[in-house]
Amino acid sequence: MSQSASGVVDMETPSGEAVDSFSDKLSSLGADFRRWDVRRIEALLDLPFSDLIHRAQQVHRQYHDPNGVQLSTLISVKTGGCPEDCGYCPQAARYHTNVENQDMLTVEDVVAAAAAAKAQGATRFCMGAAWRGPRERDMKSVVEMVRAVKALGLEACTTLGMLKPGQAEQLQEAGLDYYNHNLDTSPEFYGEIITTRDYEDRLDTLQKVRHAGINVCCGGIVGMGESRRARAGLIGQLANLDPYPESVPINHLVQVEGTPLHGTEALDPLEFVRTIAAARITMPKAMVRLSAGRREMPEAVQALCFLAGANSIFYGDKLLTTGNPEAERDKALFDKLGLHSI
Ligand code: SF4
Repeated sequence: MSQSASGVVDMETPSGEAVDSFSDKLSSLGADFRRWDVRRIEALLDLPFSDLIHRAQQVHRQYHDPNGVQLSTLISVKTGGCPEDCGYCPQAARYHTNVENQDMLTVEDVVAAAAAAKAQGATRFCMGAAWRGPRERDMKSVVEMVRAVKALGLEACTTLGMLKPGQAEQLQEAGLDYYNHNLDTSPEFYGEIITTRDYEDRLDTLQKVRHAGINVCCGGIVGMGESRRARAGLIGQLANLDPYPESVPINHLVQVEGTPLHGTEALDPLEFVRTIAAARITMPKAMVRLSAGRREMPEAVQALCFLAGANSIFYGDKLLTTGNPEAERDKALFDKLGLHSI
């Protein structure tokens, strides 16, 4: 990494031309030049804020409509009672939270919710279920839901946990556009947050999704007490997936009473913005989604996230179990910022 006269750290993106001395050193050692080394991402996160945002804007404007934001709506099709132990999640059966368990919704319920989301302007409808992974009998209902959502002319996405062999193919045949499965955090910090499944399990499901020909939606959560290096590690894992995910949700921890992460020291909002910028720079063509935690975010922070390259949001008044800004508030914010839906 070199420091230019202007004080700007000189590093390239994988598609960029400027080659810094650090990367030169790596390639001379035979390192895969297309990969994002965690130290390079850390160096990005360490940039002066204006320089980081400038770089993110440059990449963003090269690949995306700078004022266009994609709208996704997320519903929970099966809530609570999950056997996993994700430390942030109010749906884990082992934590005592206010989330009420709810059996699988009917296909009719899902169609009604999808039609309402479409009427509000959403283009993608995401269905989440609190499972370690779907059983075969669950797959039958999910496949029907995917077909029904597609028939409404919406993109369909599901997040169902770990997939067994053949399940991704079933979803692909039903017309599923995206499968969401987050890495959550860096491999080093992961064990602090989840113990009931390991990082490899997650990568294995992502590979199944990719092999089935379904677009990958994969991101993580920040604000869980991780270091800046761990945030760089998460971004590095995502950016080095080959190819990187088409959709990258960056979530801010929503602290829910009764979960182990409740009471975690709050993250500086500018660190969240920096993480968005790093995602944008390292995954230029991905849709970077400003996801959970947006309701708690002041409008000015959301505006900075859009400036840093976020170009997708969850839209509607509820995420899986936590709140989200009402559609009307989002419309007002879009007007204020001159944003439009894509
Ligand atoms: S995040 Fe998903 S897998 Fe983890 S406890 Fe919650 S519902 Fe279960």
